[in-house]
Amino acid sequence: MRNLPEIENLIKIISKLPGLGPKSAKRIILKMINNRNEILKPLANNLNDVFKNIERCKICGTLKSNINPCSNCEDKSKKFNKICVVENISDQWAIESSSIFQGYFHILGGTISDTNNSNNRENLLINSLIERIKNDKIEEVILATSATVEGQTTAFYIQDSLRNTKTKVSKLAQGLPVGGEIENSDDGTLISAFKNRKDLDNS
Ligand SMILES: [Zn+2]
Repeated sequence: MRNLPEIENLIKIISKLPGLGPKSAKRIILKMINNRNEILKPLANNLNDVFKNIERCKICGTLKSNINPCSNCEDKSKKFNKICVVENISDQWAIESSSIFQGYFHILGGTISDTNNSNNRENLLINSLIERIKNDKIEEVILATSATVEGQTTAFYIQDSLRNTKTKVSKLAQGLPVGGEIENSDDGTLISAFKNRKDLDNS
């Protein structure tokens, strides 16, 4: 690997991915190099496509193609005028795959205690959430942040921010274990948490 800065750089980058260290990064890179045409080339092309064409929607925070309108917030054909607020895109994916919720999503991109969210209200798209509630005549906002201290603090912060919108606000309650993260919850737990969500005082 010495004298191969391309490989050394790649190891450094891949080691930063969740669940991977330098050892597994090396194994992944060797696998890619040993499969140049089947893995390395299509991966490089796909990564380039993702870098060029995919971005977070500035309105709802989900991933969107920068060629087409956002299918989450600009598609007005959804039957239910409800918005489910989650911390991360992986939470949206977990809830979508459980099929318990058919409305819109709003992805904060973290919690208010994240150190990289210095200007929280803007970074967490809370002003944008308020705009969406008004413009799209949203009837219910479901706070589906994790059952962690950070998640619950964030839910309280959003509930407070929505006070003047007069929209019904509910929160996932029973079913989620204390400390439970949305993305790691199984379908049964998510369905139970949605069904048993409780209304929050929003006046
Ligand atoms: Zn969007």
